[in-house]
Amino acid sequence: MQRRKFVEMGAVCALALTAALPARAEAERPILVAASFDAMAELVKAVGGSLVRVETLIPPGAEPHDFTPTVKTTQLLRAASVLVVNGFGMEPWAKKIAAAAENPRLMLVTASEGAVPVKNSDPDEIAEHGADDPHLWLSLSGAEIEARNIAEALAKADPKNAEAYRMQFTLFKGKLHVLKTQYSARFRNVKRRFFVTGHAAFAYLCRDFNLEQKSVEGVFAEGEPTPKRLAELAIELKKAGVRTVFAEKLLSPAVSKTLAQEAGARVETIYTMESAEDGKNYLERMRSNLEKIESALDE
Ligand SMILES: [Zn+2]
Repeated sequence: MQRRKFVEMGAVCALALTAALPARAEAERPILVAASFDAMAELVKAVGGSLVRVETLIPPGAEPHDFTPTVKTTQLLRAASVLVVNGFGMEPWAKKIAAAAENPRLMLVTASEGAVPVKNSDPDEIAEHGADDPHLWLSLSGAEIEARNIAEALAKADPKNAEAYRMQFTLFKGKLHVLKTQYSARFRNVKRRFFVTGHAAFAYLCRDFNLEQKSVEGVFAEGEPTPKRLAELAIELKKAGVRTVFAEKLLSPAVSKTLAQEAGARVETIYTMESAEDGKNYLERMRSNLEKIESALDE
């Protein structure tokens, strides 16, 4: 009898719990955050965790530098609480598309706000994307600024979880600092200060560590290089002892491959985080980039 009562009580408790669940789930449903491209989505996940659901506006595999918003973009922004963009000329369409969504709740956040920009030097690049180099997210100090701005925006959009966002930011910042300290020491004793890459996306990373990027894209801004110019560059790289040429997934690595072949170097993938890559999160890709850059500088 006694035992049966317990079972019944258990059943009643379970029922009470089930009844309480919908209200609880309602109260803790993650907020919908739209992020312009993959790196922004990754930084939102880093400080938002399970409190947010992130959707990327630029579809996987699409080139974020040349993206044009679609009807789908507007639909997503109608439902979102926050839109996170990088800024520095990366998403010139952001304000317009946010307004077109006619969503009074939607908060537009420019993650790079407060950062000191690296200026573009290439005239074509300036004409196309504006005065500032947009690739702030590929540096550890840049990511810290962006993650802080995102955490503050999430705290505003979802005030009951404000402390959780700030705490997750502090944890993330700690991890960025560990990497920065580690690599500041490692990069001090490498053989050379520059590395060769396809897309010139690493100016901020170079600023952090006093390094230099030489980009294939920068040398060959005007279409395909002539065989003569390619041969000259290959000789330069050989003389400098360069054994690695980095290539990105999204941009055609064909020229990087040819150059590497001529210079007797190998092609190594580097992450730009402009689209999802290998199922890896922000820190995993950052660690991989730093590791590969270190070996390239020291071989
Ligand atoms: Zn880029």
